[in-house]
Parts: sequence; C-alpha cells; structure tokens
Amino acid sequence: MSNPHTLGSGWNLKHTYTSLPEKFYSLKAPVPVKEPKIVLLNKQLAKDLGLNFEGVDENHLAKLFAGNLLPEDSQPFAQAYAGHQFGNFTMLGDGRAIMLGEQMTPDGEMKDIQFKGSGRTVFSRGGDGRSTLKAMLREYLISEAMHGLGIPSTRSLAVVTTGEPVYREQVQAGSILTRVAESHIRVGTFEFSRQYLSEEELKELLNYTIARHYPACMNSENPTLEFFNAVMNRQAALIAEWVRVGFIHGVMNTDNMSIAGESIDFGPCAFMNAYDPNKVFSSIDTQGRYAFGNQPQIAHWNLSCLASALLPLFHSDKETAISIAQESLNSFPTIYRKEWLRAMRLKLGLLGEDEKDKKLVEDLMDLMQEFKMDYTNTFIAVGTDNFTNEQGMDSPGFQEWYLRWIKRAGSHGQTLEAAQEVMSAHNPQFIPRNHLVEEALENAAAGDMNLFNTLLDLLRDPYTPNKAFTNYQVTPQVEWEENYKTFCGT
Ligand code: AMP
Ligand code: MG
Repeated sequence: MSNPHTLGSGWNLKHTYTSLPEKFYSLKAPVPVKEPKIVLLNKQLAKDLGLNFEGVDENHLAKLFAGNLLPEDSQPFAQAYAGHQFGNFTMLGDGRAIMLGEQMTPDGEMKDIQFKGSGRTVFSRGGDGRSTLKAMLREYLISEAMHGLGIPSTRSLAVVTTGEPVYREQVQAGSILTRVAESHIRVGTFEFSRQYLSEEELKELLNYTIARHYPACMNSENPTLEFFNAVMNRQAALIAEWVRVGFIHGVMNTDNMSIAGESIDFGPCAFMNAYDPNKVFSSIDTQGRYAFGNQPQIAHWNLSCLASALLPLFHSDKETAISIAQESLNSFPTIYRKEWLRAMRLKLGLLGEDEKDKKLVEDLMDLMQEFKMDYTNTFIAVGTDNFTNEQGMDSPGFQEWYLRWIKRAGSHGQTLEAAQEVMSAHNPQFIPRNHLVEEALENAAAGDMNLFNTLLDLLRDPYTPNKAFTNYQVTPQVEWEENYKTFCGT
C-alpha cells in the first residue's frame, strides 16, 4: 500500500544540466503558494515517466505539483537563456519556470520536469513569475493534442490552481503547469552563451547538447556542423508537421525554438480553419511575421541565429567558419521543401513520386484559399468522397482538380481505396478548433471542466472518425473567426 502522504513513487531525478558552468542556471526553489488544488493529472504520462501516484491523497498531489513539497531528489533551478523576440535580441531566462531535474524513465529516456508559473526568479525582470489558469489549461490541451496528432511536442503532466490571484487585464486564478520535455535547451540558450559567456563555456553547452540529443554527431569529423545539420533536419520535419495539420505557433522567437525539435510554448498558437497562408491570430503579431505560411522562413531565420551563435565552433578560422555555416544554412529551403512534399503527398494519399505532385498540391492550396475552404475538412472530404458540406467543391476549378487527383492517386500501382487509407492516417478528423478551445477554457475558468475533458479525450485519438462528435468538426461563424485573437499570455 502506498502512503497517502508520500509524493508518489518512481521519482528518479538526475541533475545533468547543473553540471554545466553555473552561469547557465540559477538555483532557486519554487515559491510556495497559498492553497494549491489539483485540476488535472495526466495518468498515462505519469506512468510513461515511471511515476505512480496511486493512493496519494489530493492534498499532497496538489502540494507536489504546486512546488510546495518537492520530491526528495529535486535540485530546483531556473535556466538562463536569451533570444530574438520579433527580431530583437534580449536577455531572457526562466522568469516564471523552475526545473526540478531530469526524470529517468523506465525506458531509459531522460525528460525535463519543469513547473511553469512557480514564482519569481533572478530572470523575472518586471514579471510576477506566475501564470493564469486559462493559459496553463490552454498549454495542457494544445500540447496533448499535438502529441495525439503524432507531432513532437512538450507534454503536460499536471495543472494546479494556487489559491492566489494573478493580475492581468483582469484578475484571474493563478495556476502552475508541470511541463515535460526532451529538454528546455533553446536556440536562445546558445545565443545567451555566445553573447555573454566564454568560447569554452559555449563549447561545454554544445558538448552537453550533443551528448543529450544528438549523440551520433559526437565522433564525426566536424561535430558542430553535424549537430547543426541535425538540428536543421529536425526543425524542417517539425515545421512540415505543423503545416500538415494547420498549426500556427504564433510566437516563433528563438527562445521558443527547442534544440531537440519539439513544439514548445503554446501561448498565442492556434489552428487554422479556412486555408490562408497569411493567417495570423496573435494580437501582437501585427506584421504577420509568424503567419502560417511564413513559418518555414522563420525557422530558417532562427537557424541562422543558431549558426551565428555556434560560429567559432564551426572552425577556428573565422572566414572558413562563416563559409561552412553559410553553406549548411543555405540547404534549409531544399530540406524543408522535401519534408513538406513528403507530408503533403501523404495528406493526399500519393504513393511514389511524380514530378507533377508539387503542382497538384499547390493548385489545391490555391483553390482552398480562393474559396476559403476549411483546411482540415477539405482533406477529409477528398479522402472520403463526401463533398456535401464543403464550399468551393462544386466549382469547375475544384472539379477539374479532383479529376487530376483521382488519376494521380490511383496510379503508381495503387488503388484509390489504398490512397484514401493513407489519407485517413495523415489527415486528422479532429483538431482543437479555436472556438471550442475558447469555450472549454471559459467553462473551466468558471469551474466546469466537462467540455475541456471531452475535447482532451477526443484529441487523444484525432484520426478516428467518430459519429458522436461530428459537431466538433463544424467550423465557427466566419465573423467569429475573423475577430478571433490570441494572446501571449500568460
Ligand atoms: P514566453 O512568452 O512565455 O515565451 O516568455 C518570454 C520571456 O518572458 C521568458 O523569459 C519568460 O520567463 C518571461 N515571462 C513571461 N511571463 C512572465 C511572468 N509572468 N513573470 C516573469 N517572467 C515572465
Ligand atoms: Mg518562451
């Protein structure tokens, strides 16, 4: 029998990050909160991490995930990092997050366990170190939805409320999210190191990161270059996955780009309904820097920041270093286009390769944009021959495209049915529709978790059609969508 007053069993926290020079972090415990209450606990994820909370009473769980009581082996700290925010370089760091350590899972993987919203640190600047319930629930829902979609993402283990108010535009309930990640090393961590630390320290960060995330690069002739190429490949694959499901991150600053290639920081993110490459939801992104269709270019830009942070490590001779980095960086658009085409072929069930595939995909995109067709539902309709609800599908342009698609999808030795099967595995039936997410969060803030939990459940298995939930596939009113704004929030 487990003791209800323990903090669960299976904690196996390592402290490898704090083996780096001290300038990379600041030891700091979470600031205890007044009256923690548990809102969500991700039992499956806990199990995957080797953690067992069975029999632990709710009070203790709440204290644990609020940081009021810490697991025995924790050695909490805040990470230092910098970053380019909307193009401008700034010193940042964990202003409201505390790392407990790295949990060794039963599968031998190492995962960061981090509290978000756990009080001020030396990096807080003017901030209060806290987070709101709505923002933490949003991150929980979207990160778990990304995981359900099969896209690399940080995960969410728990949410608590703190019993303390948080002052934003309105007074909101304070909350803490427990985030699980491959690591929290960002492009901005390297930028921080390059800007403020010695070359020796930069080298230590690189060696640590290679050992942790890209061990295959360790013994290559130029580990820095191999590492950089590997990061580029993962980023290209990640952005192609975002594009596959219509995800707009919304704030792709270099401090929000994980070196491990996971989606991270779900502030102003949103899923697109009607296809529009210029779509932006974030209230602060007035120039459309982080618009849906700009995401590959921004990833490229962010990688150029990484390259310049790593510059002295590419080669001891500056000119040579620049030319090595530049050549590698120049390959990103080609790598990305390949990933994109691979993803889009699967989305349209196109097996094999045909030189006209790219045009076939682009023509569909143009039609979707012209007729403001729903990105998710259009692919479902094509994949199931069910055009009843989609506007634009009776247009001559679309009909002509559809005949071309039939011809192509049924070629290369496969049947149309086989193509449609591939499509059903790569086109979600369900995405976190913005209007549903907002409604779920409103309800949750008022104490009603029903819609939130229903959505969470549904999004664990987003590719399986479910007749009982067809109303979750309906798009919002055009006007609602046009006025919808997201916030870096917080
Ligand atoms: P984010 O927008 O969450 O990516 O955060 C950008 C930077 O602002 C990071 O350095 C955060 O730690 C910091 N930050 C965001 N919100 C707060 C807050 N409420 N208190 C202190 N720092 C914050
Ligand atoms: Mg961030």
